[in-house]
Amino acid sequence: MPREFHSITVEAIVLKHADWGEADRILTLFTRQQGKIRALGKSVRKIRSRRAGHLEPFTHVTLQLAKSRDLPIITQAETIQAFAPLRESLVAIGHASYVIELLDKFTYEEGENLSLFTLLVKTFERLITPGLDAQLVLRFYEIRLLDYTGFRPELTHCIACGTTIQPEDQFFLPGSGGVLCPRCGRETDARGAIPITKDALKYLRHLQRSAFTEAMRAHPGPEHAREMERILQGYLTYVLERGLNVPKFIREVNRKMETEPAPPHDTPSPRGQ
Ligand SMILES: [Zn+2]
Repeated sequence: MPREFHSITVEAIVLKHADWGEADRILTLFTRQQGKIRALGKSVRKIRSRRAGHLEPFTHVTLQLAKSRDLPIITQAETIQAFAPLRESLVAIGHASYVIELLDKFTYEEGENLSLFTLLVKTFERLITPGLDAQLVLRFYEIRLLDYTGFRPELTHCIACGTTIQPEDQFFLPGSGGVLCPRCGRETDARGAIPITKDALKYLRHLQRSAFTEAMRAHPGPEHAREMERILQGYLTYVLERGLNVPKFIREVNRKMETEPAPPHDTPSPRGQ
């Protein structure tokens, strides 16, 4: 029985790719229409493949995908924005790779998430905009990513006693996803609580509640910038190690990967269908 193919068009950012077989690649994409998906780029490693240049990580593309029983197959690719400056220095590559890695770790192939897609595209645009503080752009990205994936940290009320946080030095407890007032920080069993100065907390709250342009008006000094990074890294690490391993769908994905064979190398071409 012939396989049925039908074509769809998606807009995507290429997250990463892995070699497959002799000349193919499996691409991980974050799409506007379907969230994170994987697709097969056939023969893209052959010299002069017309599609290859469009399929490098960080590239914003329009893709034609032919559905197949296994992974969808990329039949056409057109670049919307290459984001070339993101590949021009090790620092820029590092920033863009971090953005992608975080998104990849926080998402599964679970359908559309337009907020995340828009955040990803805008973050790349911001990282290549001259004059913007890249570190602040990254902190803004982390805060929004946490929002859009359901891990928004509590920064205005003590997570233990619920009182409104006052402008003074506090603690941040990654395991509970928020700030502890000084009293609770001292009194409760707050192992793993990280001290946070009132200024670093003020900047984090500013990023959390402000639109991007407004958020960029903050100018934390190097000390507070490092502190913000440390707090967010502590929380992101905690969520990735603990929080994301809990949901049932993870176990389902793992089980699926164990029981389902990898896609065959010679997935039929949609040509002529
Ligand atoms: Zn408290």
